[in-house]
Amino acid sequence: MSLLPAGRDRQAEEAEYLAKSHKRVKRRPHAAKIMKSENFFDASRRESRDVWGAFYATEWQTPAGLIKGAELMAALRDHLAELQDEQCCYCREPLLKGGYSRPIEHVLPRSEHPRFTLHFWNLAVSCERCNRLKGKTQSETFARVLSSYPDLADFVSQYHPRLHDYDMHIKYTAIVQNGVNIPLYAGRTVHGRNLCSQFLHAAALEMTLLSPKSKFYGDVNTIQNFIVSHDEAAIDKVQAVQTALLEAMVNAATG
Ligand SMILES: [Zn+2]
Repeated sequence: MSLLPAGRDRQAEEAEYLAKSHKRVKRRPHAAKIMKSENFFDASRRESRDVWGAFYATEWQTPAGLIKGAELMAALRDHLAELQDEQCCYCREPLLKGGYSRPIEHVLPRSEHPRFTLHFWNLAVSCERCNRLKGKTQSETFARVLSSYPDLADFVSQYHPRLHDYDMHIKYTAIVQNGVNIPLYAGRTVHGRNLCSQFLHAAALEMTLLSPKSKFYGDVNTIQNFIVSHDEAAIDKVQAVQTALLEAMVNAATG
């Protein structure tokens, strides 16, 4: 049992982040020390408590100057975004600059797993849309109470952007048709199919409708509200709408 798939080195990947744990080079060794002392890599040594907001507001006095929690999180965000080629970990759309448009995503949600709120392997960077749409979906359920972070093999239904290989689980195609962006997602595995039905198809629909040249641009707010409030039953409807929309567009372009 291990966290990462064969061929990846956990310690090396953690060290790679630590080497860039602060924007300012002189503060990096101290930032690394802080993250280690916060048990950022070992959830079993952390309290089962959501400390996200508190961590942001914390400051540490170091020989190289004051280090703020917000700076540590900004450096982490930059590192994760770089690992993801500056793309959303779920929909692969380019990440825009700024914290709001590229939120740090908790793969296992803070509400259900407060112990992993501040755990290196539970964090990724998503776009605002995926972060919002994923919020209401069901995450992996575990048969036991987790005192440490689950292994790769424990994720039997949920796609994990830090542990799984995107292309192995999801087929992503993006076409631009008459100026309208149409992203298409298809699951290649159980994990990929779950991701698609839970919110990637809804995200694709939103992106298609939000394309400035889309004929539906004016109706976007109505539909967006519908998607935001989607429940299990509504997902099927969203997918049906998307399918109909794509078919109509293809027919319009080719007919
Ligand atoms: Zn996204």
